[in-house]
Amino acid sequence: MSDCKLETKTFFQAIENEALIGSRCLNCGHISLPQRYICSRCHSNQAERLEFAGTGKLAAYTVIYVPATDMVKAGYDSKNPYMVGIVTLDEGPRISAQILDMDLSDPAKIQIGTPLKMTVIERGAEGQTKKFLAFKPLE
Ligand SMILES: [Zn+2]
Repeated sequence: MSDCKLETKTFFQAIENEALIGSRCLNCGHISLPQRYICSRCHSNQAERLEFAGTGKLAAYTVIYVPATDMVKAGYDSKNPYMVGIVTLDEGPRISAQILDMDLSDPAKIQIGTPLKMTVIERGAEGQTKKFLAFKPLE
């Protein structure tokens, strides 16, 4: 559906501006990320745009030692692993993203519940970089 495309586009355009955009249902208050024009809880089509504060807590994670091709290009491998987590935002929704600046030497020591804040990573060939959502520890 064209609506889905529009939602995804808005979400990624917002990331380019280092903002996290979703929506709040004006009928029941349900918060969606990315934004939805039809509420998944009450099916109302009355929603307002919501900019997330970009803070949350680590809910789950994995450390990846055997990356996909695009992440190999970004410099990751078995000696330089990276972390992907699920973050529960302070507003409620969960989102998965790369987590930066964590000590990955002993992944078992990473604490669920670690406070995180949003950041972005720029990747890609020079002149055509794209920004990707990421999180890092909240100081
Ligand atoms: Zn609703």
